[in-house]
Amino acid sequence: MDLAQPSFAELRLALERKEGRKVTANFGLNPRLGKYHRTYCGGCGSIIDEAYVTSERCQYCGSLKLVRGVFDRILDIADRKTPLVPANRPPYHYQVPLEFIPGLGKAKMNALLQAFGTEMNILHGCGEAEIASVVGVDLAAMIVRARSGILELSAGGGGTYGKVVLPGK
Ligand SMILES: [Zn+2]
Repeated sequence: MDLAQPSFAELRLALERKEGRKVTANFGLNPRLGKYHRTYCGGCGSIIDEAYVTSERCQYCGSLKLVRGVFDRILDIADRKTPLVPANRPPYHYQVPLEFIPGLGKAKMNALLQAFGTEMNILHGCGEAEIASVVGVDLAAMIVRARSGILELSAGGGGTYGKVVLPGK
């Protein structure tokens, strides 16, 4: 946020977009990783990620025990073909928290925090070579691919988080 100082009065100005104060960017979990992103079938355990689910029945097993995903629900109620984004809306940066990166355990997490301070700095600020100097090139590449939105993710649904898909799997 663009604030003169961190205070409630300044926060209020930013939310009201007054006196030059504003929200400059949002950061949050990549929605594909969310626990209810896509529709889940309680009959066969599938997370249906290939198509927009319009049926009441699972396309794989015919079960009616579907837990509707947020994404599918948004498509249900959407009344526009393309989003109408107000000019004042700040960019939204998706992130993949470090705990989702396969092979990045507690020890490596602590080494990264020791070297770079905060997870936000690691996720969005540090260069790939810097990260690689602490945890190696493979993990660094995954963190940077996640940052640029090209890391492959399998969608979450039915109360289970999504996952990072390892290359070649
Ligand atoms: Zn099913």
